[in-house]
Amino acid sequence: MPSADNSFGFVFCGGGPAGLGPIVTAARSGRLGELLDRGIALVEPGPVGPGGLAHYRIGANSLGGPFLECLDGLGDDSPFAALRDLPETALLRGHADEHPPLSVVAPFLTRLGAVVRELLEAHPRCAYVADRVDAIALTDDDGVVVTTGDGRELRARRAVIATGGRPLAGFARAEIVPGLSLAPHQDRVFHSESFIDARRRLPAANGRAVVVGGSHSAWSVVDLLASDAAEVTLIHRSELRLFYSGADEARADGYAFDPVLDVCPANGRVNRYGGLRGRAHELAAAALGLRGPGPAPVRLVRAGAPGALDVARQALADADVIVMANGFEANLPELSHPDGAVLIAATGPTGTEVTDQGHLVDVHGVRHPRLIAYGLGAGLAPSAEVGGEPSYTRRADGVWLYQHDIGEIVLDDLLHHVTTTGEIHA
Ligand SMILES: Cc1cc2nc3c(=O)[nH]c(=O)nc-3n(C[C@H](O)[C@H](O)[C@H](O)COP(=O)(O)OP(=O)(O)OC[C@H]3O[C@@H](n4cnc5c(N)ncnc54)[C@H](O)[C@@H]3O)c2cc1C
Repeated sequence: MPSADNSFGFVFCGGGPAGLGPIVTAARSGRLGELLDRGIALVEPGPVGPGGLAHYRIGANSLGGPFLECLDGLGDDSPFAALRDLPETALLRGHADEHPPLSVVAPFLTRLGAVVRELLEAHPRCAYVADRVDAIALTDDDGVVVTTGDGRELRARRAVIATGGRPLAGFARAEIVPGLSLAPHQDRVFHSESFIDARRRLPAANGRAVVVGGSHSAWSVVDLLASDAAEVTLIHRSELRLFYSGADEARADGYAFDPVLDVCPANGRVNRYGGLRGRAHELAAAALGLRGPGPAPVRLVRAGAPGALDVARQALADADVIVMANGFEANLPELSHPDGAVLIAATGPTGTEVTDQGHLVDVHGVRHPRLIAYGLGAGLAPSAEVGGEPSYTRRADGVWLYQHDIGEIVLDDLLHHVTTTGEIHA
């Protein structure tokens, strides 16, 4: 540990795609030296870089090319430049215009993580700590103390919390819409993440499954179930949205969209954030009748539509397996106030609540600029800065965003932060 007093500018808790985002962004925008000179401790118990993407054996919902855009425009003297010639990069480049398996993406992210780790280990004011974060306490002197699994205390101005997500509490008993609850069926309810992780199969009975949700995760589950299921019922609350690179492409596919609300003003993409891509797009387009029949016989039930409640209730009663794909909340370590009182983060239907800058919001509505949380389970909601279609009101997450728009918001905030005492750290 280079810092004799364990003091840093920032402690990054978690070194997955989100945690690395601002560091990669800093390298792309010529601010890496400035960021590292502030002093960073990165605490990550596993491999630095790939996070959860290392173990999902499904296809990426993004094209291969955007994962490599973090290398665009780097000078040859950038510490990340050497990544361009690695075999892992070449392999991913071979999938630039298609949706690669995540097993091809993860090794590239691991090499990216190795560069970050080496940078931190080589810098006199930085450190890499191979441990987990157990607790983060706000202190009286406008800083934080981060306690690691082995009891080390790291002091910093601020904590960047990117420790990934966990299923929303009570997901197995959730009420999908008023009058439609999973509670009576909770012994048959799985969360999409564990289902995808274990590549579960449908237990042989009547071959019926219900998937709740309309996100990429929901469709990844449909895909996994496709080969075994006699029927998959997908119960979704909001309209299924498909991504298109432009309005003409969407029209050519016969897809109905709102030309103002569903189109990103920044780049003309249709459903830039809310739209299904890749394999999920194919499956959903087939289920919506825009294409020929898909590989899975999917019955769509829009909860809340007239008559849907009875159909959905019957489907839940008949299902061998129910998979809930309602998202995540942030997997936060224990948080406390300077007086030792527990700090409880606010959680809404789309995850842990943070401000547009990623400042954690507690259950009393108080914002905590010293605790920056984003990534899976706490993604920033798109704002005018991030762009996106106006109809999208949920969280934006994705590796590209962490390394670009979201990474920039967090980086700017870290480098130009006004403390609660009015002091500017710029
Ligand atoms: C099934 C699925 C598929 C996805 N596919 C894509 C895709 O194709 N393309 C895309 O752009 N996005 C995808 N995403 C969305 C998102 O980009 C990824 O989930 C991404 O991995 C999120 O990054 P993260 O860093 O927030 O979380 P994670 O990837 O979960 O990383 C969190 C990191 O924090 C560490 N950690 C956990 N607890 C602690 C602790 N207490 N202390 C210290 N460290 C800790 C973990 O070891 C891990 O390295 C997908 C999400 C899911 C769920």
